[in-house]
Amino acid sequence: NRRFVLASRPKGAPTPENFRFETVETPVPGDGEVLIRNRFLSLDPYMRGRMSDAKSYATPVEIDAVMGGGTVGVVKASNNPRFSEGDLVLAQGGWQDFSLSNGRDLRKLPPELDHPSYALSILGMPGFTAWHGLLKIGEPKAGETVVVAAASGPVGSIVGQIARLKGAKVIGIAGGPKKCRTVVETFGFDACLDHKDPGFAEKLKQAVPDGIDVYYENVGGKVFDAVLPLLNVHARVPVCGLIASYNATGLPDGPDRLPLLAGILLRQRIRMQGFIISDHYAGEFADFERDMAGWVKAGEVKIIEDVVDGLENAPDAFIGLLEGKNFGKLVVRIGED
Ligand code: NDP
Repeated sequence: NRRFVLASRPKGAPTPENFRFETVETPVPGDGEVLIRNRFLSLDPYMRGRMSDAKSYATPVEIDAVMGGGTVGVVKASNNPRFSEGDLVLAQGGWQDFSLSNGRDLRKLPPELDHPSYALSILGMPGFTAWHGLLKIGEPKAGETVVVAAASGPVGSIVGQIARLKGAKVIGIAGGPKKCRTVVETFGFDACLDHKDPGFAEKLKQAVPDGIDVYYENVGGKVFDAVLPLLNVHARVPVCGLIASYNATGLPDGPDRLPLLAGILLRQRIRMQGFIISDHYAGEFADFERDMAGWVKAGEVKIIEDVVDGLENAPDAFIGLLEGKNFGKLVVRIGED
């Protein structure tokens, strides 16, 4: 069983030295357990938080423990009556070839699934995150203007596509002209702006002549600075992620801008609300699945996957995700056997 464990906690951006590649015996399932061959591993920005021991909503990965992560795999041996050899399952298998589960965190997937890795993206956690944050907090209405960054990634691209289905005008923000072109041509956004362009803030202002009604926050940093003065009265801001600061070692320099933020929130009567998607599975996942399965089938919502071959490439791919090097949902193909 090849696997990556957390060797040390990053200071700032993670480096390859924070991970250690090991080969150990393949585990043997005990009573009630199943052995899973992991086929696809999802790499997600939240994993940066788990590498750190700072206070958070989830417990950190221990040093020398296997890096956690969502996986799609095949049951190889089962001592659990609910699962049989050959079942395709969604699991928390982590960065390794094989994993054990007591069955509680497993979901059986239909064996005929065209794209099993979609259970890690459009039909899974990132898709659900987009659906919940946009519809339950953002509440876009026809004719309103919705802005979302990381717009070629799984969460951002799905936010924009759902907002279009609800009749909103959708402006994406992404890193570079190639990503921006895809956001418009493949995902059907009305426009997309490059946050690396020196004239970005001014171009954003021109792109939203009626102001911004929903800003779906994925990144923070300079993008949020550009968005803040453009928010309309009664705008909604679902706070989903702040990836621009995940590698930060402290607060940014410069004047205290909290009074500016608080003043705009007050005068514009803005609702800004954070959420963690794991809180919402029990109550809403079934509704999401129904909506999204229909949209995917009808070709109304699409996803681009960035598939990296080989478990050994997971650390570099993950480090790149935090720098915007991925193009679409980042997934590692561990093996097909
Ligand atoms: P993506 O695959 O879109 O990858 C992250 C993207 O963020 C990068 O590709 C890059 O895109 C962009 N980015 C990185 N640094 C910066 C920066 N400094 N400024 C602007 N953009 C930057 O990720 P996901 O779709 O998986 O996740 C999107 C956000 O949603 C993340 O913040 C994540 O933490 C959050 N999230 C929150 C959840 C919750 O429960 N609240 C659940 C799931 C995700 P580009 O090159 O276009 O800039």
